[in-house]
Amino acid sequence: MSFSIHGIAVAHGIAIGRAHLFLQTSLEITHYAVSPDRLEAEVERFDRAVATVRDELRDLESHVPAGAPPEFAAFLQLHLMILNDETLSGIPRDLISQQGCNAEWALKQQMDSLIAQFEAIEDSYLRERKEDVTQVVERVLKALTGQPAATSPEHKAELDSILVAHDLSPADMLVFKQHAYQAFVTDMGGATSHMAIVARSLGIPSVVALHHAWAMIREGEVIVVDGMAGVIIVNPDPLILSEYRLRQEQWHLERQKLKRLRTTKPTTLDGTDIILLANIEQPDDVDAVKKSGAMGIGLYRSEFLFMNRSDLPGEEEQFNAYRRVTEALRGQPVTIRTLDIGADKPIEPATKIHTLNPALGLRAIRYCLSEPRIFLTQLRAILRASRFGNAHLLLPMLSTATELSQALALLEQAKTELRLENIPFKENIPVGGMIEVPAAALALPMFISKLDFLSIGTNDLIQYTLAIDRADDEVAHLYNPVHPAVLFLVANTIRTAHKAGIPVAVCGEMAGNPALTRLLLGFGLREFSMHPAHLPEVKQVILKTSLPDLKPWIRKILQTYDGDRLEDLMNRLNRQNC
Ligand code: PEP
Ligand code: MG
Repeated sequence: MSFSIHGIAVAHGIAIGRAHLFLQTSLEITHYAVSPDRLEAEVERFDRAVATVRDELRDLESHVPAGAPPEFAAFLQLHLMILNDETLSGIPRDLISQQGCNAEWALKQQMDSLIAQFEAIEDSYLRERKEDVTQVVERVLKALTGQPAATSPEHKAELDSILVAHDLSPADMLVFKQHAYQAFVTDMGGATSHMAIVARSLGIPSVVALHHAWAMIREGEVIVVDGMAGVIIVNPDPLILSEYRLRQEQWHLERQKLKRLRTTKPTTLDGTDIILLANIEQPDDVDAVKKSGAMGIGLYRSEFLFMNRSDLPGEEEQFNAYRRVTEALRGQPVTIRTLDIGADKPIEPATKIHTLNPALGLRAIRYCLSEPRIFLTQLRAILRASRFGNAHLLLPMLSTATELSQALALLEQAKTELRLENIPFKENIPVGGMIEVPAAALALPMFISKLDFLSIGTNDLIQYTLAIDRADDEVAHLYNPVHPAVLFLVANTIRTAHKAGIPVAVCGEMAGNPALTRLLLGFGLREFSMHPAHLPEVKQVILKTSLPDLKPWIRKILQTYDGDRLEDLMNRLNRQNC
């Protein structure tokens, strides 16, 4: 039966492929039969996953971070013991062979039976150890999902798989970067959730906020993902399928044409030069930056180095990552944002997953100031990398003057430490602040005199201004970059920064949306930082725009409070020859 589901488009493009349902350990685990001739391979897959987890745990054990609580090492030993116990690493192998089932299912059955045994224990300490069993099983299940099942349908059609998930974390996305998925579709998420941002950076068509897709779609079903309209069509009829194949071809042709703009300077019709920078998550993204023709990196989200691991990266590891990027950019600016964890980017073991209201909690600069040693380690690594190129340092989520002065004091401390140790670094690394909390946008003089540049994080600025969780699918439709309050704050920040004579960029997703390019140019923005995949489209708009012609439109837009009228004005601004 053919049906369609509407969600929110987060990464453009069209994909046609077969559904691969992503297994989430917190959700139901898939159960399928494995044919007798594949059973041996399935047992081997299970053994490999156990071995991967064993290596992970051993690795963690030998790198217990300094300052970790003493229980940490004991807890790793306990997990290794549980993993190595026959009941967990042996019995599921027998179950696979006896029942002819997949490894995940065998493991889940064994976990359920162990948990039942633990629950019957009277001793409360021992009873609580069932949590540890679950955690170890989850690790093995995660390792299993990283290794395609010998018999699962996606294995046959890996190249045209579409990943269907209930939810994906930014950390999951890092893992999927290496897979050849044609598209991502998820029940949860919003247009600027970090999962969506990473999907966009990969240039892979994606639709989020589909609410019940994971439950409705079956493994292997054919799906069309329309990343422009934000819709997916399951089991499309032949007519629809051929229409979408045509559209897909057109889309690719357009992308090819846009690529030719790579070396064209982003200058408006009236001769104003615009700076186009790239956002990256990892050093490997530098290749895409180079291909896009970006003039530097306006946002390096350093927290991605802290994901998918249970320890924290040390100074040396961080230094090597930052140095790699700064060196590769050969003198072009590289804006390294300090650790922005929390909210939809929790990391283990640092952040509390079950904080009441994580977006309003101990995230970003707040977290760093509460953990000065972690922050100092990062500052030292950035300072050391700064002498290999043109590094800038960016502080996320500032909301009070005290935060800024504390962060600057820690930066001074990091410099003093390095000087005492005779470790070279660039003394005058430019320091910028992210304006992504309404309080910061409304009280800019609190920060401006102490900073060298500003960068507007519109993703969070919108989230906090409109009180809409950017990762919550239930309110994703309310997330609106052209809400008058948002426009006021963005325009005001740009104007105030210009008056004070300090550079200002936008590095939130608004900067990479070609439908908002003219608006931001009209507000006076001259520096845009976006995912490399978006750069050609934004450049194309810049090349067709004359700044003086924008003025009357912008005046009207900033005085309009009616949603429909605003939409109409925006459409006319974008259509108009100016
Ligand atoms: C933002 O909030 O706009 C931003 C660029 O930071 P992040 O998306 O990583 O929160
Ligand atoms: Mg942000």
